[in-house]
Amino acid sequence: MTELRIAIVGFGKIARDQHVAAIAATPGATLSAIASRNASLPDLPHFATIEDLLEKGPPIDAVSLCTPPQVRRAQALAALAAGKHVMLEKPPGLSVGELDPLVAMAKDAKRTLFATWHSRFAPAVEPARQWLAARRIKSVHISWKEDVRVWHPGQGWIWEPGGLGVFDPGINALSILTRILPRPVFVTAADLSFPANRDAPIAANLALTDAGSLPIMAEFDFRQTGPQSWDIVAETDQGRMTLSGGGARMAVDGKVLAEEPEAEYRGLYRRFVELAATGESDVDLTPFRLVADAFMLGKRNVVEPFVE
Ligand code: NAP
Repeated sequence: MTELRIAIVGFGKIARDQHVAAIAATPGATLSAIASRNASLPDLPHFATIEDLLEKGPPIDAVSLCTPPQVRRAQALAALAAGKHVMLEKPPGLSVGELDPLVAMAKDAKRTLFATWHSRFAPAVEPARQWLAARRIKSVHISWKEDVRVWHPGQGWIWEPGGLGVFDPGINALSILTRILPRPVFVTAADLSFPANRDAPIAANLALTDAGSLPIMAEFDFRQTGPQSWDIVAETDQGRMTLSGGGARMAVDGKVLAEEPEAEYRGLYRRFVELAATGESDVDLTPFRLVADAFMLGKRNVVEPFVE
């Protein structure tokens, strides 16, 4: 197998916390360069911008875009135009529509465009999908509540238009939901709380359903202090399935059926190497469309200003 030489673009929290180690642990993948305005790693070529990387950098096959969604489309465009495979952090962009031209461009160039949903690679997600497939689901409740000050310190982009606010983590729950349920779901109502001084919601309550009228409620909140929750609970004809820890553990009526060490980003890079071998793309916009619909349907409340 030829090595996939990857450059990371945007060297913030997720690049440091996950991407570097996941690339190092993935057979067939090598970290070859970094494009960052502020950061570098010892012994690796470093460029301030993706343009400099593509023009003056070492030979690379792929870029992994770890920048905020507001700047990702232009970077993906530049990388595809230069013949590189592209991995997109979630959410895949700033708007649903901007992905279509990128998908078409990747197809024409026979290059991979991979819109990642890291939470789908959490270890208990597939066991949950399989367990639910054989049951009648009566209702689903999502509780995705975290402290924005702990998990997103200094990330001003998250509060700007397109930064998604609380949907930045909430979309992870929706990526799992749309993987584990047997039928497509859609949003029927949403209640969004915007801090008076910000352009993105700090909390959101969603009602969703499917063609069989399954009741699904989702509560997203960035103001959670104390215990944090990243849980999906499904009531079924054969008990209550709880997927907790962001997809790390699955239990039925309290009995743990699946729990493995976290390895989401290794799964992502394994998949990226596989895709790049054939130039196939993987772009599922379903979770992103649900968020867009929540913004479209959302009743807006103004709440107290958020000061970090
Ligand atoms: P972050 O810590 O703010 O890092 C983003 C990096 O992108 C910055 O350090 C900066 O890197 C670069 N950047 C920011 N604004 C830019 C601009 N205008 N132009 C060019 N580069 C810019 O954010 P993050 O948490 O790593 O999140 C990045 C993406 O990963 C988001 O879409 C997020 O949803 C996703 N993600 C985050 C997490 C998490 O736990 N944090 C988990 C999964 C996915 P340089 O200073 O190096 O240029």
